[in-house]
Amino acid sequence: MQVLEQDLKTGAPGARPVMRQYELVERVRRYNPHTDEALLNRAYVYAMKAHGVQKRASGAPFISHPLEVAAILTDLKLDDATIIAALLHDTIEDTKATRAEITKKFGKDIGTLVEGLTKIRKLDLVSKRAEQAENLRKLLLAIADDVRVLLVKLADRLHNMRTLQWMPEDTRNRIAEETLDIYAPLAGRMGMHDMGEELEDLSFRQLSPEAYRSIETRLATVREGNKHLIEEIEGELTGALAAKRIRARVKGREKRPYSIWKKMERKAVGFEQLSDIYGFRVVVGSIEECYRAVGVVHTRWPVVPERFKDYISTPKQNDYRSIHTTVVGPGGQRVELQIRTRGMADVAEHGIAAHALYKDSAGTPNEMLARDSGAYDWLRRTIELLAEGSSPEEFLEHTKLELFHDQVFCFTPKGRLIALPRKATPIDFAYAVHTDVGNNAVGCKINGKVAPLVSELMTGDEVEIIGGEGQTPPAAWESIVVTGKARAAVRRATRVAVRAQYTGLGRKMIERAFVRAGQPISDERLQAALARLARTSLEDVQAAVGRGEMKADDVVKAVHPDWRGERKPPVKAPRGEGWFGLTRAASLKFRIPGFGGGKDKPASPIPIRGINGELPVRFAEKGGAVPGDRIVGILTPGEGITIYPIQSQALKEFDDEPERWLDVRWDVDEELPQRFPAQIVVASSNAPGTLAQIAQVISEHAGNIDNIRMARRSPDFTLLTIDVEVYDLKHLNAIIAQLRTKAVVASAERVNG
Ligand code: MN
Repeated sequence: MQVLEQDLKTGAPGARPVMRQYELVERVRRYNPHTDEALLNRAYVYAMKAHGVQKRASGAPFISHPLEVAAILTDLKLDDATIIAALLHDTIEDTKATRAEITKKFGKDIGTLVEGLTKIRKLDLVSKRAEQAENLRKLLLAIADDVRVLLVKLADRLHNMRTLQWMPEDTRNRIAEETLDIYAPLAGRMGMHDMGEELEDLSFRQLSPEAYRSIETRLATVREGNKHLIEEIEGELTGALAAKRIRARVKGREKRPYSIWKKMERKAVGFEQLSDIYGFRVVVGSIEECYRAVGVVHTRWPVVPERFKDYISTPKQNDYRSIHTTVVGPGGQRVELQIRTRGMADVAEHGIAAHALYKDSAGTPNEMLARDSGAYDWLRRTIELLAEGSSPEEFLEHTKLELFHDQVFCFTPKGRLIALPRKATPIDFAYAVHTDVGNNAVGCKINGKVAPLVSELMTGDEVEIIGGEGQTPPAAWESIVVTGKARAAVRRATRVAVRAQYTGLGRKMIERAFVRAGQPISDERLQAALARLARTSLEDVQAAVGRGEMKADDVVKAVHPDWRGERKPPVKAPRGEGWFGLTRAASLKFRIPGFGGGKDKPASPIPIRGINGELPVRFAEKGGAVPGDRIVGILTPGEGITIYPIQSQALKEFDDEPERWLDVRWDVDEELPQRFPAQIVVASSNAPGTLAQIAQVISEHAGNIDNIRMARRSPDFTLLTIDVEVYDLKHLNAIIAQLRTKAVVASAERVNG
């Protein structure tokens, strides 16, 4: 970034003096004490001699280019072979040097790397699409051979982009387009986010100079206006953490112009909000400190609900680990925080390159790439796809060169390729396979593992859709899916289903109104009253009542014009059962004569099957409800049924509205277990690592943490409210019991809102 700024201000990258031999060695030695200094020195001299008096377009000595490329790679702390390959990467093509000579002087490894780089260098900037496709294939094959080829190639492209203004005018756009289409996304997919973002920005500046400038100007204004606020937030966070003896590096980070631009384009929003422009990174010493830091932050500032993500206990597919949370910070500003350790920060910024020198379980970048089921599966799959694909030209035509840019390529279990736009979900995948597959989808497996249907798909993912019979897609899918085909299909299916839901609900409400009024009911009587209700069909009447457009009592009056609205007294509980809810629920089971088939049959409880069933169902906001709970439903016309556990305090609110109570029962599908919402409140000691232990217990028991709030705190105790999703009451109780075994947990209880 410093170099970039220097370029912008002086307009002359050559202004920076060529890096000296000892400087290069020193840079490497700083992170790699085992470096082969003699070999580095020989490579420096060899490259210097080989390029001789050659000059770059800028007039700078050519050697400045391979040296800058090597310097970029020392920032990524890469191994000797990679640094030396960078020094030599243009020698075979541009000088008299040969692969044989390089192999003789520097070994086979480096010889192969330089040859690989020479091959793909010829790929740049060909104009025909067929050639582009063929080149992309070669590049991917070279990467599959040795991923260090890509690391050098990306650094090479980065330096060329930083010095783009020296290239002939007519080639600048081509280079920038190619960078934006292929190299920046490749860097991103390799987890090298810092490099990917800089490549995007440099391309953006070339391709849309006006947009770039206007964002830069506005950024500068915001930067000026918020200067103190950023420092204040950094200071307050550091201080609050230090008070709990957590040493943390807190840094507000500005988003890049290109990512702001994309967001503005996508959402058509301005960027006045601080949280849209700055993210705060909190880097601490250990995983335990990550969780303690979350505790400190959540205790001090209000948490923004549903923004808490724990990618430490559940890492993202590309190895990314961090805790994300958003709080309402100083000055009422929303502040996004990413909390991580130093090692996690390295992976977050440098991806696969972060593993180059670490002797950790992940292995070297090449080993990571070779592993069978890893974050880089997509690369092998894409190569296979390119290798076997019809003609490369056809392939490119089909994907509009958006291979890495705007599309992901996924596979059915039988190997059929499904191309989808980025951010596509398994739901989009299902509808792309077939409309029926989409409509019946109830779950999915990604690469053999059960995953949520709302996951974001990655290239190379193998997706298996689990289908149910006679399912209806939830209306919420309409706003989740990204493909037009899926959206249209969901809308079609839900329009029908929503009407059916309201009709069903209306029917139940009408039944109940007649029972309460003590009046007989039958379809024939209702038919006869249609004219009085100004409706043409029974279904219309039911749907109108379900939507809250018509009162159920008005239907009773239409059928029995003599009825004055007086009601039978509420049914008393058979015995003195304590819970009013239970009493009421029990009362609903009494008979509804002459309606809905068969005389003298009790009205059976309405079956409840999660939120995707046949009725519009929600769960109690505080405390939720899970299978195993005895439950009651409360009707809200136009909104549906809210399910409460029978012991819920919130039910008192509806005591005076008997017409809203509904007898319900669970009807869960054991083949396809769903999770249901519940809340646990835990009193824990303030010992280090408490939150980590609690999160671990829950995730080890396959519970899903939705949110954590620090409710209250004394010097030695914290009250945590945890929103958790579980399969049933047994599952919930097992988690609570396990929490109670922890020494740091004083008590753990379910919340019964
Ligand atoms: Mn080069």
